[in-house]
Amino acid sequence: MHADMQVTRPQPAKPPSPQCTYREESVKEFVSRNLGQEVFFRLIDPFCSGVYAGDPAKLSMKAAFGRIWILEKMGGSLVGGSLKLFQERRNNPPPPRNPQLPPKPKGQTVGSFRKGLKMLPEAIGRNIKDNIRTNWKLTGVSKDASSGHYVLNYETPTGPQEVRSHQVIATLPSWVLADVLREKSAKAAEALGSLDYPPVGAVTLSYPISSVKDDRKNAEGKVPGFGQLHPRTQGITTLGTIYSSSLFPGRAPDGNLLLLSYIGGAMNRGIVDQTPEQLADQVDKDLRTMLIKPDAPKPRMVGVRVWPRAIPQFNIGHQEQLEKAKAGLSEAGMDDFVLGGNYVCGVALGKVVDHGYELAQAVANRAASRSSNGGNSGKDSTSQQPAAAASSA
Ligand SMILES: Cc1cc2nc3c(=O)[nH]c(=O)nc-3n(C[C@H](O)[C@H](O)[C@H](O)COP(=O)(O)OP(=O)(O)OC[C@H]3O[C@@H](n4cnc5c(N)ncnc54)[C@H](O)[C@@H]3O)c2cc1C
Repeated sequence: MHADMQVTRPQPAKPPSPQCTYREESVKEFVSRNLGQEVFFRLIDPFCSGVYAGDPAKLSMKAAFGRIWILEKMGGSLVGGSLKLFQERRNNPPPPRNPQLPPKPKGQTVGSFRKGLKMLPEAIGRNIKDNIRTNWKLTGVSKDASSGHYVLNYETPTGPQEVRSHQVIATLPSWVLADVLREKSAKAAEALGSLDYPPVGAVTLSYPISSVKDDRKNAEGKVPGFGQLHPRTQGITTLGTIYSSSLFPGRAPDGNLLLLSYIGGAMNRGIVDQTPEQLADQVDKDLRTMLIKPDAPKPRMVGVRVWPRAIPQFNIGHQEQLEKAKAGLSEAGMDDFVLGGNYVCGVALGKVVDHGYELAQAVANRAASRSSNGGNSGKDSTSQQPAAAASSA
C-alpha cells in the first residue's frame, strides 16, 4: 500500500484508551486505533460504503462489524484475537455443510441467480403460494386480551383483512414498524423510528468493451474482477461499482460490459433530489477516472433506481435502540412479537436469510411447546388463511 495522502503509519495496536473501554467506538476510531489511518482510509472506509453506504465516523464497530470487534476483546488485539479464534475453530470445528446445498465454488465471494435476485422471492412464492399473501399492507397491531392473540390489520387489494396469531415475526423496515406500533408502544415506536436509513441509488450502465481503458483489460480483452470500491478521500462520488457482466454469465451481449454502480448513502443524501439522468452522468463521470476511457461514447442507461430509505445504519447506539424497542414491546405485553429483518441481524442478504430460518425455528418451537402444554395448538386464524406468523407480506 502506498501513500499519496497524509498517512499515519500503522502502529502496533494501542490498548483501548480508558475512554474507549467505557464508550462505544465508531468504525473509524476502532480501525484507526488498531490498524492506522491508511488502512482505515484505503480499505475500511470504502468497505463501509460497499456494505452500509454508511458514515464510518458514525457506524458502531461493535454493532456493524461485531465479528472483528470481538477479536480485540478475545485476545487483547486483533492479531491475538484472530489466533485465539483460529485455535477455538480448530478445537471445535463447525458442523459440516448441509449436504443438500451445492458445494461452495472455490474462491467465489459473491453470488446471484441466473436471472438475478428476483428469482429468490419468485421461487419462495411458487413453493409456498398457499401460505403467503402479497400486497397486504400491515396497518395496525393490537392484542385481544381474552384469547391472547395478536390482531394484525391489513389493507389488501380486496379490502381490509384481519389476521390473528399467537406469535408474530415482524420483518418490516423499522421505520414502517414504528408507525404500526405507535399506539401499542410509544417506547418501541420511538426506538424503531430512530434508526437511520439513508438513500441509495443503483445505476446500471452498459458500455462497449472498446470503451474500457486498455490497462484494465486482461490478455483476453475482458475486464476481470468483482468491481471497485472508492475511498471517500479520492473525490469520487460513486460509492462503488460491480462488474456485473464479468461476474455473472448472460448479463450483457458479447462485446459489452454491464456495470452496476451505487451512489448516495449517509454522506450523500442529496441523490433523492437528482434526476436519473443526473445520477447516470455522475456515475459515468466517475467511471471515466478509472475504468472507462475519457473520450468513450456515452453509455447506455439501462436502469436507475433510487431507494429513498435503503439500508439501516448500525450506528453508535444501535444496539441500545434495539434493546429499547424490545423492552417497549415487553412492557406492552408483546413478548411474542419478534423483531426480525436486516436492522436486527445485519444487512447482508445471506445473514437475513439465515436469521429468517432461526426465527422460524424459534417460533415453531414455541408453538410446539404451547400445544404440548395444552394451549391453543397454533390454529391461529385469519378470515382467509390458517396460521400466520409473519407480518411482512
Ligand atoms: C441498493 C441496495 C443494494 C444492496 N446490495 C446488497 C448486496 O450486494 N449484497 C447483500 O448481501 N446485501 C445487499 N443489500 C442489503 C440487502 O438487500 C438487505 O439488507 C436485505 O434484502 C433486507 O432484507 P429484509 O427482509 O430485512 O428487508 P426488505 O427486503 O426490505 O423487506 C421488507 C419487506 O417489508 C415489506 N413491507 C414494507 N411495509 C410493509 C407493510 N406496511 N406491510 C407489509 N409489508 C411491508 C416490503 O415490501 C418488503 O418486502 C442491498 C440493499 C440495497 C438497498
